Amino acid sequence: MKPTLFWLQSGGCGGDTMALLNAESPDIIEARNGLGLDMLYHPSFSARSSRDCAATIADIEANRITLDVLCIEGAVILGPENTGLYETIDGTPKKDIIRLLAHKARYVFAIGTCASFGGVSRACGIGAVGLQFTASEPGGFLGKDFTTQIGLPVINLPGCPVHPSVFFGTASAFLSGYHLTLNNYQAPLEYFSMLVHQGCTRNEYHEFQVEEQDFGDVGCLFFHMGCHGPLAHGPCNKFLWNNRNSKTRNGVPCFGCTEPGFPQDEPFFSTPNIVGLPLNLPDGVDRPYYLAYKGMAAAAAPARLKDRKTQV
Ligand code: SF4
Repeated sequence: MKPTLFWLQSGGCGGDTMALLNAESPDIIEARNGLGLDMLYHPSFSARSSRDCAATIADIEANRITLDVLCIEGAVILGPENTGLYETIDGTPKKDIIRLLAHKARYVFAIGTCASFGGVSRACGIGAVGLQFTASEPGGFLGKDFTTQIGLPVINLPGCPVHPSVFFGTASAFLSGYHLTLNNYQAPLEYFSMLVHQGCTRNEYHEFQVEEQDFGDVGCLFFHMGCHGPLAHGPCNKFLWNNRNSKTRNGVPCFGCTEPGFPQDEPFFSTPNIVGLPLNLPDGVDRPYYLAYKGMAAAAAPARLKDRKTQV
């Protein structure tokens, strides 16, 4: 029997689906065939609207259909006043449908940062929460003790949007019976133990603290331009977008969109800092040592970097 998949969009922008539609290798059709999925519903791949899914949902509820994979894209919307009526299908709050399906599924994937932690939707004052977290606080919509039919927690795949290869790779591993180890925020270590900084083509500029002076310039964006690359976990410089690029390679700071606290309070394009040193340093870094090390590195910076002759 083919594993069944039901994909529901909730409070979000639909960007994860857009990313999926743009996947190149594999593309969405190759991935679906490779995973052998029976797609019960997806808003962009099904001819039906979500309204027409009532019968399928009823079949899942009555155990006439086994639900293997539930993908929720976007945050769960609880507002106003916990009714969920800001986000409905035919008058039924989506939160009620999500709860029903989550308890029937073998695997539940939170697709993107909004579904994982609330994300941008959480900042909108509509009672948006993640499936099992609200920002970094465990619990979220389903509660911290929630487990699926086979005893797994929600598997978080954060990113704004999540890279399609992360979804395909994770789904493929779990459906093959290889349960990837999850980090403290229930995201697979396979993809979320590395930092966005790793693989950025501006690394040499970072080492010698050669900073961008203006956007479009060549240099590191960490010290003044708002880059979260050394703080944020994710494979953004390993799995490139459209197999070609990443934000930081292209000169846009990493906004830390894979982290539970995203979006942060500070502005996107500047780095809060004390005497030129970012307020937030990479995990475990000692500030006085870092200050001394960066000062020496800046003094040792080769002219080819200071003159920005090396392209990124
Ligand atoms: S631009 Fe960001 S990701 Fe790239 S080297 Fe600098 S801090 Fe790291």
